[in-house]
Amino acid sequence: MNIRTDLLLPATRAFLQRPKRMLIGGQWVAAADGAVFVSEDPATESPLAEVPAGKSADIDAAVQAARHAFAQGPWAAMRPSDRERLLLRLADLVEANADELAQIEALDNGKPASMARAVDVATAASFLRYMGGWATKLHGESLDVSVPLVREREFVTFTRQEAVGVVGAIIPWNFPLLMAAWKLGPALASGCTVVLKPAEETPLSALRLGELIVEAGYPAGVVNIVTGGGADCGAALVAHPDVDKVTFTGSTEVGKRVGTAAMQRLARVTLELGGKSPVIMLDDMSPEAAAAGAAQAIFFNQGQVCTAGSRLYLPRRHFDATVEALAGIANGFRLGAGIEPDTTMGPLVSARQRQRVAGYVQAGVEDGATLVCGGPADTSRGHFFRPTVLAGAPDSASVVQEEIFGPVVVALPYDEIDEVVGRANGTPFGLAASVWSNDLSRVHRLVPRIKAGTVWVNCHNLLDNAMPFGGFKQSGIGREMGRAVFEHYTETKSVMIAV
Ligand code: NAP
Ligand code: MG
Repeated sequence: MNIRTDLLLPATRAFLQRPKRMLIGGQWVAAADGAVFVSEDPATESPLAEVPAGKSADIDAAVQAARHAFAQGPWAAMRPSDRERLLLRLADLVEANADELAQIEALDNGKPASMARAVDVATAASFLRYMGGWATKLHGESLDVSVPLVREREFVTFTRQEAVGVVGAIIPWNFPLLMAAWKLGPALASGCTVVLKPAEETPLSALRLGELIVEAGYPAGVVNIVTGGGADCGAALVAHPDVDKVTFTGSTEVGKRVGTAAMQRLARVTLELGGKSPVIMLDDMSPEAAAAGAAQAIFFNQGQVCTAGSRLYLPRRHFDATVEALAGIANGFRLGAGIEPDTTMGPLVSARQRQRVAGYVQAGVEDGATLVCGGPADTSRGHFFRPTVLAGAPDSASVVQEEIFGPVVVALPYDEIDEVVGRANGTPFGLAASVWSNDLSRVHRLVPRIKAGTVWVNCHNLLDNAMPFGGFKQSGIGREMGRAVFEHYTETKSVMIAV
């Protein structure tokens, strides 16, 4: 199977043909040492593009450019409304190029282009626009103070929310364009400058976004994009002494390393990490409704979602019927390349990811789970994995405890609500959960008992720009989106004037 170039827009073809360079200080540059790596199409295993393999010298140049842009020049002089206007323009450009961006994402990541268009690209544009609105609405507070030591003086006291400075942003491969927008939006709204490192598997949409950032009129050095591997390029960004804040989305394992390195110099740090989100069906949900909800929770984006509903808790009396209905939905997906219009599930992002997911499924079976449907797809090319349902593993099994990051759900029966709350909270993660029932009283009693940054009721994986997003426990530190994100992109300065 080769890439279906006949399905590509002229704009996508033109982008693929342009040489790939990194954006540093407003210039498109190769890596200092000339090194490159290849980004492949996971559906055909064909090379898509050669991309610069940036390392510490390139990170250093990018951080210097970001520092310079932060400290002086046109960006530092911009008013909030100027920053708003630029973000709105960038959002418009993302929208104007939506079909091309969706194809780039489908080729580089594997996901269906229709999904990329409706979710990744549309949400990125809407988020940048929402963040543009915040640029003019961030403000400090005026305080009425009662200084205990000095009764005879009066004071004017206020706080300022000042941009934190140079932001180092490291993003994963599951929603490449959207994750770039999640980092850039609040940074640019609040007046920070950025060095962005996309994931090695999916560098292309960030480079196209870089072109749109230049087109929107951002001054040189405000956004720098350095492509390269995590161990050298990413680690150099985290360790750089002139990066004021690190924001990372990815695995808990790497996140702990990133957080520890940032903490060495007390750089500000936000971590959005892994999850093992429980989906709890109460007994008023019919097996059909429960299966439809559970399928939406786990199979979206090939299951490569940090909030994926990967543990399905079912009342014992509905267990068999619900698992059967879920397997029926799982077997109905059409696997194919993301750019083909009738594909409903693309390949996993890489051979490594496919091997990892297959390893978990095998371990689950060895631990006692029943493989109801799914497993690695039998294709000669591409990293395809069929939607997979496992039933009945012990709570200690790795398929119940660890993030798989693939289209694999483990269904588990329960008898009592107290029991299921304990089991749902019984992993190191706390990113998200969903509860499904039309019994309002039971739902409201359950929600406060679940240790997760987001609890959905009768839905799963739905996000909104205004809704803070982040993890409890080992799912991370800090919040993205909403007003809450600005706590992490600004420093509070208190000013006291004796008058
Ligand atoms: P990862 O290693 O955590 O990668 C995330 C980002 O961090 C990538 O840009 C990566 O660069 C970079 N990175 C890797 N090592 C680094 C280091 N030492 N210092 C600084 N940056 C570093 O995730 P992955 O290897 O792609 O995927 C592994 C597993 O992580 C998945 O199977 C999944 O379970 C989980 N994951 C979770 C999320 C999430 O949103 N919760 C997202 C992605 C993956 P390179 O990729 O270019 O090396
Ligand atoms: Mg790729």
